[in-house]
Amino acid sequence: MPAAALDTPVLDTNVPACAIPGLAFPAIPGTTDALVLSMLREFARDERLQPSQLLALQLQQVEALVEHAMRTVPWYRRHYRQAASRWKKAPAMESFQRLPILTRRSLQNAARELRSDAIPREHGRLGVAASSGSTGRPVQVLQPELLALPQKAHYLAQYLRHGIDLSAKVAAIRKQPPGYATPPEGAREALWAAGYPCGPAVQLSIEATVGEQIEWLARERPAYLLSYPSNLAALARRLRETATAIPSLRALRSFAEVLDPSVRALCGQVFGVAVIDEYSAVETGPIAMQCAAHEHLHVCSESVLVEVLDQRDRPCPPGAIGRVVVTVLHNFAMPLIRYELGDYAQLDAPCPRGGPHAVLKRVLGRARNMLRLPSGETRWPLFRCLHDAEVVRVEQCQVIQRSLTDILVLIVTSSPIGASQRDALVEGMQRDLGYAFDVELRRVDAIERAAGGKFEDFRCELQA
Ligand SMILES: [Zn+2]
Repeated sequence: MPAAALDTPVLDTNVPACAIPGLAFPAIPGTTDALVLSMLREFARDERLQPSQLLALQLQQVEALVEHAMRTVPWYRRHYRQAASRWKKAPAMESFQRLPILTRRSLQNAARELRSDAIPREHGRLGVAASSGSTGRPVQVLQPELLALPQKAHYLAQYLRHGIDLSAKVAAIRKQPPGYATPPEGAREALWAAGYPCGPAVQLSIEATVGEQIEWLARERPAYLLSYPSNLAALARRLRETATAIPSLRALRSFAEVLDPSVRALCGQVFGVAVIDEYSAVETGPIAMQCAAHEHLHVCSESVLVEVLDQRDRPCPPGAIGRVVVTVLHNFAMPLIRYELGDYAQLDAPCPRGGPHAVLKRVLGRARNMLRLPSGETRWPLFRCLHDAEVVRVEQCQVIQRSLTDILVLIVTSSPIGASQRDALVEGMQRDLGYAFDVELRRVDAIERAAGGKFEDFRCELQA
């Protein structure tokens, strides 16, 4: 396969960031940048492998991870006991696919037991990633610093393959810690890409209304904007209604929710630029990135092994929709082996631009509508209080706007909710949503997905 047909542009013309004062050419990158750049070269080599060769490399890493988990992680010691006798006797992939699946519920309930008692020191400092996930169930995952290296390389490869100008200004409108990057100013950040010198980065909290976001974008004039598909669609609708434009934009990037083809088309019409999608999760990091030539996604095989399984845990053929099960190859602090994210996906045939990497035609994960306020404003709904275990441990939730003043909250909890918890949740919802809505809390046994597999964690039933 000729190099030019592949996806990772390793021989790009950018000059790496130089870490030594006074030196400009040739550049001597700092340690992290140098590691990321060398990883990018490995990625380019991987694209020339056959699928069986790539899988063999992944399984070599999986084997090291499984053995570490069986030896040092109580949950795997217990749950893999039966599988252990068969482990490695069958061909590697068959043996791997007999291991039990780790569900979100296990991760929620057994977080302590999933922690390794012998985390290699070389894997760096530990951080905690917390996510409400795509089924509204919060989970926390311990992650060593090391995980960030291949992740940075995946993002850099993605920027280069889509021709993103690293010297330009990028903006992100997304969820932020309370009080950070609030409107009207937002916040300024340092670097947004590894390996190369890059332009300024600005952030705005998703707490900003659509009107505030447009004012901010008009002032900041970014070349690239990262946000949730539901928010990009709301921005596009407002711009169309008011016949305004953000002419500085060269591309949009979407993440964290299902990017519906209709939203992609709407953004293309109104913004006049392409939307570049990715599939990632807080617990796992990037899982798949949009192809440079198609709308489908190429799996980040150097970081994750992705399985798409049917209801009987058998691998789905291309075209069939199945459950996404991910193994994070390098988390030795809290190994996630055959972890069921709660999303659904459809595999596609291999892509000539993707080398040996698996291809996801589409992903059915979290979907959201926008919240409508009585003032006529629109905003992306935040409900932090439902993910605050100090108030009540919510296993799953769904929020439905029934009228301009009326919100229904469906929640699944393992124990009954007391009156004071109920009051705290209602107050928390009013604070998070930015208006004193009439909030009805309803405890239910389970929350169903919408037709097609999307999980709607916020739905607005008002007519557009
Ligand atoms: Zn492709």
